[in-house]
Amino acid sequence: MTEPSTDSKSLIVGIDLGTTNSLVAFNDPSGTRVLSCDDQDPMLPSVVRYNDDGSTTIGTRARDEATRFPHSTIHSAKRLMGRSIKDVRSDLEYLGYQIVEGEHNTARVLIPGTEHTEVRLVSPQEVSAHILAALKTRAQECLGQEITKAVVTVPAYFDDAQRQATRDAGRLAGLEVVRIVNEPTAAALAYGLGTGGTEPRTIAVFDLGGGTFDISILRLTPSDDSNPTDFFQVLATAGDTHLGGDDVDHQLVQLFMSEIRSQLGIDINTSEHTFDAQTRTALAQFARAVKHTLSEREAASVRIDLGNDRVYERKVTRDEFESMISGWIDRAMDACDRAIRDAKKQHGGESIDALIMVGGSTRIPLVRQRAGAFFGIEPYTALDPDKVVAMGAAIQASILSGSTKGSLLLDVVPLSLGIETAGGAVAKLIMRNSTVPTRAIERFSTQVDGQVNIKLNIVQGEREMVEDCRSLGEFELRGIPPMPAGVPKLVVEFLVDANGILNVSALEERSGKRTSVQVVPNHGLTNEEVDRIEAESFTHARSDMTRHQIADLIANSTLDLKWISERFEKHRDELEQGVRADLESKMETLRGFIQSAQADWSSVDPNAFHDAKEDLDRASMRVQEIAIAASLRDDQD
Ligand code: ADP
Ligand code: MG
Repeated sequence: MTEPSTDSKSLIVGIDLGTTNSLVAFNDPSGTRVLSCDDQDPMLPSVVRYNDDGSTTIGTRARDEATRFPHSTIHSAKRLMGRSIKDVRSDLEYLGYQIVEGEHNTARVLIPGTEHTEVRLVSPQEVSAHILAALKTRAQECLGQEITKAVVTVPAYFDDAQRQATRDAGRLAGLEVVRIVNEPTAAALAYGLGTGGTEPRTIAVFDLGGGTFDISILRLTPSDDSNPTDFFQVLATAGDTHLGGDDVDHQLVQLFMSEIRSQLGIDINTSEHTFDAQTRTALAQFARAVKHTLSEREAASVRIDLGNDRVYERKVTRDEFESMISGWIDRAMDACDRAIRDAKKQHGGESIDALIMVGGSTRIPLVRQRAGAFFGIEPYTALDPDKVVAMGAAIQASILSGSTKGSLLLDVVPLSLGIETAGGAVAKLIMRNSTVPTRAIERFSTQVDGQVNIKLNIVQGEREMVEDCRSLGEFELRGIPPMPAGVPKLVVEFLVDANGILNVSALEERSGKRTSVQVVPNHGLTNEEVDRIEAESFTHARSDMTRHQIADLIANSTLDLKWISERFEKHRDELEQGVRADLESKMETLRGFIQSAQADWSSVDPNAFHDAKEDLDRASMRVQEIAIAASLRDDQD
């Protein structure tokens, strides 16, 4: 008898790596749960700030302070993953930070230099790795066990390069991505679609998040005698890469600003460039709170004290809100129309059997209503729309780890894969919608006498000519003995593994020359780059972690103190006596921590340091309010 090895117990978590928010979930016999410890919000904002001292701040804090550090705060890194600089041109205006061209036409984020650090270029994979690493840590804390494996979700339309970039990000974070699953497939899994059932079903997944809208039409084919596993096929996808809850926040901010101008004569708009970042953040937070309240109640109110007895007070009713956002919902419905038409055109008419709501913005009742009316079916809303993708990933993870029974659901190749042939045409080896894993072979020969090296260009797309498809990468079969044109016998094999990632091998049969590659996308990182980055930044030992934490605390506390003491000096006289004394003592305590930590980092308890910082943050609420009101006031002067 043998004991089960510890390895067999290694847990696999499910991760939704979102544009706006990311989550980690776990499934075991007690159920599926999204992981968060203590009072932590389970949603981790997908935002990373690169601090002056080289450390990073991740999540809520980085998001909330983004306006203070616009150039070093990286949000929406998912938009850049596995993309070339050309691909992301249309995104640039939405991103507050700087993007430049890196090696192999990649998009890189430029982190400005400071007194302590040099300018550096960061790949989107590295940014995402920070988010994944934070989720990994969170999962380890919650599950009390080291976590090294994850299932990660991606949008259904992600191409090979984007999928590989996602997997590389996992590797940088110390996570083996054991499976990449399409987000809509994960959502369907979370609702238990795909287990049991004998009839094929068509499922619409309506995903309206913070910045993007995706509509996917899936077909679920249950297992039968000819295929042993259930599988999901993507019949059509459509969407809008710049449509999401952020637009609604922006509309509300505009409304508040224009009314503040007309009612109180304070023009926030014209002075936006000089406007206190804190105030803009505050307005955006008010807007988000109003929006969220309106998903539950019929009305929501804001009250902003602008000083000098000028108070902006506003009640927003749900009716008013709904007429405000109806054009925005129209845009989502247009995309649904395109998806349905595309699915019909490609696969014939069929009705939708289930409609799944995904993404935080589908909490808005009007969104649910309009989507339900469009598809003529009651939407599934029983699960938290912002958690279903992570939950589905966790379910897939537990099936993979063998701890849950169930057939493995298979995805399909979203776009056809082929190879460039003479004259710039494409020979397709694997057709769109083939179930993964899949394999195909094609035979070629040479065009030129005595050709000793043959270059293979691997392309993805539905069009016939290479120039209309995306090139995934090129590789060369070298050292073939010289032969007349047409004589060499070249066999190229494509294998798409269960993650949807392509492996290519080529053999020249006469000489036995062989080469194989996992296609390194033109816009991705090479294996060497991944190794280097991994070695450079992501393998820190335990003591390193504490040191890192202390360094973070020193940097963040110094900034907080600077900011708070400036405002304190300015508004000292407006503060109530008790508040003033409290604030002074909290500032003093935190200064003490910074000094000790600077003298010897190992002498300081990071938790106590952290608490002192939080205490100060809380104690400074009043002075922040006063400062916001004053900046609105100054702005008018
Ligand atoms: P993503 O998939 O892009 O990472 P999410 O699914 O997390 O995004 O959705 C985030 C968006 O959902 C944000 O714009 C947020 O304001 C919005 N949201 C979250 N909760 C609510 C709610 N109760 N009512 C309306 N919008 C909400
Ligand atoms: Mg999402």
